Amino acid sequence: MQTSSKLVVVGSVAVDWIITPTAERPESVGGAAVFFSMAAAPFVPVSLVGVIGKDFPSAAIADLEQAGVDLAGLERTDGLTFRWKGRYHENMNQRDTLETHLNCFEHFSPKLPEHYQTAEYLFLANIVPSLQLEVLDQMRTRPRLVGLDTMNLWIDIARDDLRKVLARVDVLLINREEAMQLSAEQNLVNAARAIRAMGPKTLVIKQGEYGALCFGPSDDAVFSAPALPLDEVADPTGAGDSFAGGFMGMLAKTGDLSPEGVRKAIIWGSTMASFCVQGFSYDRLRGLAREDIEARYRRFVELSRF
Ligand code: AMP
Repeated sequence: MQTSSKLVVVGSVAVDWIITPTAERPESVGGAAVFFSMAAAPFVPVSLVGVIGKDFPSAAIADLEQAGVDLAGLERTDGLTFRWKGRYHENMNQRDTLETHLNCFEHFSPKLPEHYQTAEYLFLANIVPSLQLEVLDQMRTRPRLVGLDTMNLWIDIARDDLRKVLARVDVLLINREEAMQLSAEQNLVNAARAIRAMGPKTLVIKQGEYGALCFGPSDDAVFSAPALPLDEVADPTGAGDSFAGGFMGMLAKTGDLSPEGVRKAIIWGSTMASFCVQGFSYDRLRGLAREDIEARYRRFVELSRF
């Protein structure tokens, strides 16, 4: 029997078409589960749940395997892989979705291999909330920590299912606009209070180039983490998922879920996100040396030490 997975992630595995003000990449491997896995893999072994079609590049499978990602839960179909096309604005902070093709995702029903079902850490990356629920239901033991990501689309069209998932998770990572939309509040502190009452005791608000804010786990705890000022951002796609990967990866590695441990994990998450945006796809995350990751973590520590 295989040993139990440590950290399981379920989410999209994609072929993206990325357009930035200065470059374009029509076949850029992406998907939340891919970015998450590549960012968490330097910390702990990651087990991925997702689906691909026959057009998914074999080189990307090799990269994931090389990084030590367990692909037993990656279903391979005869159809086409999920495809997403996005264009970034001049400031690289905003983007428009130009196309979304669900393809093999449309009829995907995740099946967790047996050794996944007792993982201590679970991340439900951005996919339709009903699938996130299916994964939660297949866990034979309640993980020590369940993290969740979602997006405006699901807040709009699948709010009931999303509320069911929210009631069962420990940490929610979303962006500022999504937090406002989910809570129907205009003030961030009030939004955080309302969302934490829905289930997750810890709420991480991702603010792109402005860093991240963490509310919880105790009622009055707030922590602000900076983002590293970078002189060149190649492609912000996957920054949030890479943040989640570094964050969950470090929590799984140390097992330290204290407020202090969560704060440190937020900085490790910021560290992995900062690498992600420096290249297209997961180019910059691939083959990162431990020393490079640690050196950048120290730059983050210096950034706001006084
Ligand atoms: P992020 O930049 O963190 O929002 O993540 C970008 C990734 O999300 C891209 O690689 C896309 O393939 C993926 N993505 C975009 N739209 C969706 C969707 N509706 N469901 C799941 N994944 C998506």
